[in-house]
Amino acid sequence: MKQEWLRKTIRSFTPYKVPEIKEHIVINANESPYDIFNFPDVKKDFLTRLAKLPSYHYPDPFANTLRKALGRYVSAEYNEILAGNGGDEMIQLILNTFIDEGDTILVHVPTFDVYEIDGQVLGARIVKVPDSEDFKREGETFLEAIRKWQPKVTFICNPNNPTGDIWPVSLIEKMIQASPGIVVVDEAYMEFSGQESMISRLHSHDNLIVIRTLSKAFGLAGFRLGYCVANADIINAVSLTKPSYNLNSFTQLMGVVALEHSEEILKHNVPPTIAVRDYLIERLRTIKGVEVFPSAANFILVRTYDGPRYVKTLSEADICVRSYGNRADLANCLRITATTEYVANKILKVFQKEASHEDC
Ligand code: PMP
Repeated sequence: MKQEWLRKTIRSFTPYKVPEIKEHIVINANESPYDIFNFPDVKKDFLTRLAKLPSYHYPDPFANTLRKALGRYVSAEYNEILAGNGGDEMIQLILNTFIDEGDTILVHVPTFDVYEIDGQVLGARIVKVPDSEDFKREGETFLEAIRKWQPKVTFICNPNNPTGDIWPVSLIEKMIQASPGIVVVDEAYMEFSGQESMISRLHSHDNLIVIRTLSKAFGLAGFRLGYCVANADIINAVSLTKPSYNLNSFTQLMGVVALEHSEEILKHNVPPTIAVRDYLIERLRTIKGVEVFPSAANFILVRTYDGPRYVKTLSEADICVRSYGNRADLANCLRITATTEYVANKILKVFQKEASHEDC
């Protein structure tokens, strides 16, 4: 294939890479350890309705039944919601809607790489505000960057992936007020934070978009169901470039059923995950040579004296974690998803063993 056939913005492009996994304990993608079909009522409701699903019809293009269920879940109107194939599709649609070539996207780094990657495809200028050395995001520095760069779109990942850092609603509100353009607050992990969602402030700001997903707290990563919440005008705008039938009937149905059982699912999935996260944080902090950063999400970021060595030893123990290759800002860091106590204890064993080697 001729290189010049490619659009210019992707000729020297590094896509978001999902690694091949050979280990059996997979804690590299912040997935839930809980299977939705282990809730008997959810399984029964889903299968009963699935049997009546007309496979020969296209899905509802705007997933209205699902949007109403999401609206009840987040206390918003259905026309203030757009649903699609994961938070990933929401990010893409938002940027397709607002970004022209050369426009500025502001992000804090490190964060979810997809904001930058999707922005690059569109030829945006990406302005990055680095965290402090201990992965704290300085609110005042970010505010200054908003004032200086006047971004068309600003991304705030809250809690932040991969650091787990969380900003309070009041601080994010200042950023929204200071922004001349759209502020996207990505709350993929919000259910694990115990903090108020920015969705509660939707009606005070006409430039706020909140992204959420059912991949994490609901354990539905395989179904691909994300959504964004914003005022109805923004939702209409973000829908302009949406593929007509972006969300298949199967996923729409699963979403409706899961949301009808949201209380039971979240009560079962979230508190144990938080407990394992906090247990890991507490125990890892007692291990020499391991820096552990606070987290409001279902994962923790740790920095070790030799990241690749830990990745290798964890892999030998059949555990796959997320590492960051030769990225300077995340050198020797690992991101570990909090799942079960059994897995947490296996991780701790590896870390204790490695720490004892360091002493030698
Ligand atoms: N936002 C953040 C911060 C994420 O970490 C992820 C998934 N890792 C997503 C959005 C996308 O999630 P999904 O497409 O599974 O909804």
